[in-house]
Amino acid sequence: MDTFSMLLRNSVVGIEEKVPLVSGERRTAINFDNAATTPPFHSVMREIRNFAPWYSSVHRGAGYKSVLSSNLYEKARDTVSEFVKADAQRDVVIFTKGTTEAINLLAYKISQQDRSRVVLVTEMEHLANVLPWRFACQSDFVSVDASGRLSLEDLETKLVKYKGKVRLVAVTGASNVTGYMNPVYRIARLAHQYGAEILVDGAQWVPHCPVDMRPHQSKEHIDYLVFSAHKMYAPFGAGVLIGHKDLFQQGPPFCKGGGTVNLVTHELVDWDDSPQRDEAGSPNVMGVAALIAAIETLQCMNMNTLYEHEKQLTDYAIKGLKSVPGIKLYGEAGLAEKRVSLVSFTAEGIHHSNVAKILSYEGAIAVRSGLFCAHPYVQKLLCLSKEELQYCHEHPDEPLPGLVRISFGIYNNCREVDAFLEIIAWMMRHRRKLDEKYRCIENDADYPRWLLKPVKKRAP
Ligand code: PMP
Repeated sequence: MDTFSMLLRNSVVGIEEKVPLVSGERRTAINFDNAATTPPFHSVMREIRNFAPWYSSVHRGAGYKSVLSSNLYEKARDTVSEFVKADAQRDVVIFTKGTTEAINLLAYKISQQDRSRVVLVTEMEHLANVLPWRFACQSDFVSVDASGRLSLEDLETKLVKYKGKVRLVAVTGASNVTGYMNPVYRIARLAHQYGAEILVDGAQWVPHCPVDMRPHQSKEHIDYLVFSAHKMYAPFGAGVLIGHKDLFQQGPPFCKGGGTVNLVTHELVDWDDSPQRDEAGSPNVMGVAALIAAIETLQCMNMNTLYEHEKQLTDYAIKGLKSVPGIKLYGEAGLAEKRVSLVSFTAEGIHHSNVAKILSYEGAIAVRSGLFCAHPYVQKLLCLSKEELQYCHEHPDEPLPGLVRISFGIYNNCREVDAFLEIIAWMMRHRRKLDEKYRCIENDADYPRWLLKPVKKRAP
């Protein structure tokens, strides 16, 4: 391993932890489920420990620690804003508990403004960027092609069809299923040309490459951006919504309560300005401190370099998977294009959930399997018919169709990919026997009990 890879590997917590295999052996865990959540950076944990003695209420007290906590929390908005090149004057940075809450908040604000306009979401969205719109506004889908790539032609057709009625195009920066990165600046251009705005779901985008919201006067400006700290090495529950301050200065907030107002009487409510208006209750100062430490660490490592590093790993895994008979990759058409560090596949003759179990129980490798909260997208990739979906709906006890996903963080390496490919090749050679064996273990609750015995704590 070269020095840079070693540095990246040592930047996160828990890489040497051993987990039990079905054989009774304990083996160093390999985490290929970083698209779900990433382990914390050491720098994040250090920040949490260093800040803890000074932690106090935000915006509520005149005590020294409270002032210090409030300063940290407010200054964090500038760091976030600079990280994604937002406009500090015209945009507001609202802290949420994640991408999901951020999109729900935005959907509420937009629906309050005008329910008659349309929000175009794409067929490749995570449900976090589908369901809030379905319930808040009139929404319609922009289609993807058979390989899962977004159709810009269909986007333009829909923008024309709605004759200026489209309020927002809600699109993911990168798919959590195929890893495709969408041409967000071209989409922004199109949206603006037809009088709409653009929201980019940055949950799988912001952690992997440099992001630039571009100036407000640019046709390629990203109007709204959301992302989650726990997918960028900073657990503790913070998320971000950035967007035009004007929208958030109007009307009541999504969540109402303490901290959102200047004055309340029995007769009136005088709302505070955003972001305070949009952050009801006690702010998550620890979560925000963690996010800022993670951003600073990522900046030191350089987002461009990290993108290239993850790309090498992804290309290596794709090449290896393609050489295993019976493995089918999804999202292959995007190989020549920009993509983030994840790969989805199916293994002929083995249910996706069994592949995930085999990797974990036999190889200590954590992956994700299923529909990845992007049900319509995975259904389309798998070419499931309406009848097949109806069957799934009516037979909830039967295993659902789905994919297996491996997703890399900056600390993963080719040695881990080799270990993964070895098990995959072995699994395919013994697929019938293994599928039968693992079919008896129906869900995680059946994880052999003795394997779940707590691991002995090490001396601090
Ligand atoms: N959008 C995408 C593309 C995602 O991958 C996820 C998380 N899997 C979300 C939104 C939701 O993020 P969170 O659970 O942090 O709210």
